Amino acid sequence: MPPKKKQKKDNGFMVFMKSMKPQLEAKGHKFPRGLTDVIPVCSPLWNKLSPEEKASYHQKAKDGGGTTFIKEERCDTRGVPLNWKEREEQKKISEKDHLLQKVEDMISYFATQGTLENHYFYLAHFNIAVTTSEGEYPPCEIAIVKFSLLDGIAKCYHDFVEPGQIRLGYAHEAKLHSENTHNIPTFGFKLANSDYVNITNNIKEMLKQPDGGIAPLFVVDEDNAKAIYIVDWLVKKSCQLDDSYETCSPFKIYSLNKLFYELRRQADVNNSTLRFSSIALVAEHFGKGMFFYSKNMACQWHVEEDNVTFCSLTRVRNYAYTISDLCCEYYGLSLLPNRHCPSEIADDNKYVVIPKVTKTEEPEALVEVKKKKEEEEDDREPSGPPRLPNTPATANFKGPGTGRGVLGGSMGPVSSATQSPGRSRAIETAPPAGRGRGRGLLLLADDSD
Ligand SMILES: [Zn+2]
Repeated sequence: MPPKKKQKKDNGFMVFMKSMKPQLEAKGHKFPRGLTDVIPVCSPLWNKLSPEEKASYHQKAKDGGGTTFIKEERCDTRGVPLNWKEREEQKKISEKDHLLQKVEDMISYFATQGTLENHYFYLAHFNIAVTTSEGEYPPCEIAIVKFSLLDGIAKCYHDFVEPGQIRLGYAHEAKLHSENTHNIPTFGFKLANSDYVNITNNIKEMLKQPDGGIAPLFVVDEDNAKAIYIVDWLVKKSCQLDDSYETCSPFKIYSLNKLFYELRRQADVNNSTLRFSSIALVAEHFGKGMFFYSKNMACQWHVEEDNVTFCSLTRVRNYAYTISDLCCEYYGLSLLPNRHCPSEIADDNKYVVIPKVTKTEEPEALVEVKKKKEEEEDDREPSGPPRLPNTPATANFKGPGTGRGVLGGSMGPVSSATQSPGRSRAIETAPPAGRGRGRGLLLLADDSD
């Protein structure tokens, strides 16, 4: 009997079988299971061979005349050879390592340049309609915050996305997923945006760097595959709507876990207590949802639904607040309400911030955002511009236009930071595609009116 397991080299009998198979097939033999079916036919023939003839086959086997016993290669239920899957897994692991290294190098570079505290990172969360076994994750809600250690949350983007036709057979699953999590209706949701060009452009605009590049999006590791799918999906959908749309996706998805890990580590590389024990553990800090039930976390719709914890906006703000909570003090940075922490838990003493670094990025964002401020009634969203270099921020919140009290103007009166689901929330709406310009683009289109 031939060995059941995959073997590296064939023996003489195997080489004999392989050489006989075509001849036997030519005579009308059928071997639907491959060599397994050849064995009973060839065994008697093999036994009739002289020792010299057998020896010649053994020699051929030794010389490498036969290799792996392909028929015996183990496959998964879809028929994909496990060997191949392992190789693909291996490839994925090395790609993942490569991306983690990229984040590490990036953070280390900013740290040596002294710009880490200033640097803006874009933290993203996506809610999806359903997960299909075809590897699809049609999105229904997107939120991104622009965050730095110094400024906390400087901008937010939020939108509901029309997930489109759900794959046949998944309607019930989508309904269950919605009911168990975000509650966003899969069909006919009036706030869902189906202008994918607009959504994609808004995200691009937010991520656009002075050199024209697009900053990466950071998502928690468990959302990695989902996020990669969704940004590609948005570009594809945009191309379907607009023939001339750039087909090549400019988006990059990086590990938020690794970012958090490195931000904390870089606060003092010589202090081993600042090192999280693992990158996986980092996600547990987000998972605790310390800030889920704080004020001003969710979008208006989720506030009205009384389901704030599953809102994408809650999630991204929670990322920013959690990172701030566990990193800022080691950089000598205090916490600003609605930027580093929810306003109601901000300690008065911590409102005073004297940045130890010089603000270098994006001073041009000031003008436009400030203009927008004047149109706001209830500016509880952390929509302001980055703080100016060495500008002590104070808790003395005043309205816009009070000199250079950038922080005061941007944060708005704390007392007005209350949820009022019944009334339209202050929204800084993204301009429609094509009309958006400038970088002071605060997007908080939760379409609550
Ligand atoms: Zn929401």
